[in-house]
Amino acid sequence: MKCEIKPESLVRKCYHTGGYVFAKKPDISEKKDFEEYARLASNENPLPPSDAVIKAVCESVARANRYPDEKSELLFSALKECYGSSYNFAVSGTGMDGIIETVIRVIVGPLDKVIVSSPTFSYYGIATTTQGGLPVNIMRKEDFSIDKKKIIEESEDAKLVIICSPNNPTGNVTPVPVVKEILENIKCPLFLDNAYIEFSSLDYTPLLSQYDNLIIGRTFSKAYSLAGLRIGYAFLPEWFEKYYKRAMTPFNLSIPSEAAAVAALKDKEHIKKTLNHTISWRDKIIENCRYPAFPSDTNFILIDTHPHSGDKITEVLRESGVLVRSCRSFPGLPDHYIRVSIGKDWEMERFLGAINSI
Ligand SMILES: *Cc1c(COP(=O)(O)O)cnc(C)c1O
Repeated sequence: MKCEIKPESLVRKCYHTGGYVFAKKPDISEKKDFEEYARLASNENPLPPSDAVIKAVCESVARANRYPDEKSELLFSALKECYGSSYNFAVSGTGMDGIIETVIRVIVGPLDKVIVSSPTFSYYGIATTTQGGLPVNIMRKEDFSIDKKKIIEESEDAKLVIICSPNNPTGNVTPVPVVKEILENIKCPLFLDNAYIEFSSLDYTPLLSQYDNLIIGRTFSKAYSLAGLRIGYAFLPEWFEKYYKRAMTPFNLSIPSEAAAVAALKDKEHIKKTLNHTISWRDKIIENCRYPAFPSDTNFILIDTHPHSGDKITEVLRESGVLVRSCRSFPGLPDHYIRVSIGKDWEMERFLGAINSI
């Protein structure tokens, strides 16, 4: 029997439009004067994973005929060894994005409000909408600090508050006492996105023992150089752990990803190297860029390209062999900004040369 209704009409409305907006990539067939693009659009670490991590991953693949350990015990013990045994963790094989998705799936149902401090990472809104929830964007102030008072007011009937610190794409942090005040005054959990925390000097983990409504999300994609393996983790309040585990997809973290994460956590030298490189270029860009560049506690810099649009500058830089992110897709940010990741030396030199000659 032939189906009477158009199959597309069965698709939920939230998937009819939208989806994550990826940084633009060049067409491979395109003719160009340079061998390789400077890849400064996705906040990746330009350093490859260390030899120890590569070796661990290669060895682990020999066991890939089996499902991974459903409890990811090796990574849990490595996390406890690194941070202390009093914490409760979650791990994800689809990056911190997977953590965000699962946390939202546990808490947010149809028409539930989720407070998001914007402009910020777009996936919070996407993950909320696909649950039938309602993202409520509370705009940051002119200096990109969060609007604490409004967040607290609006959270009155919300199920979840999400704050990114250091924030993507603005690069600034929310100070620990401000986060503390929010935790004290909201009646729901706070998801604190710490994707870039290693590049800052802040640590929110001491708050975990004082507040049982704090969830901290972390990733191996940025400072740990493992974006391609998609590993995320989180600090959870104790009461939340069993619900998270029920909601997550089974065998979430692959064998090679777990091996990589365990080896990477031990490799303090890699983080040190990454930080030295990132911080020295952060300062150089802010000093030498012709357009105003904002201070940053991350591995990227927000640049105000006024009077040119972010799209226009992104296009011009691409022609000079430099890929950056236009910020047009970040709701709440005017369209004259670009976000530039800290890459290798040659990439940063090419970027500075190109932007300063526009
Ligand atoms: C990169 C990023 C993530 C997600 O990283 P994963 O690769 O999914 O672990 C989460 N939040 C912010 C703000 C990010 O920039």
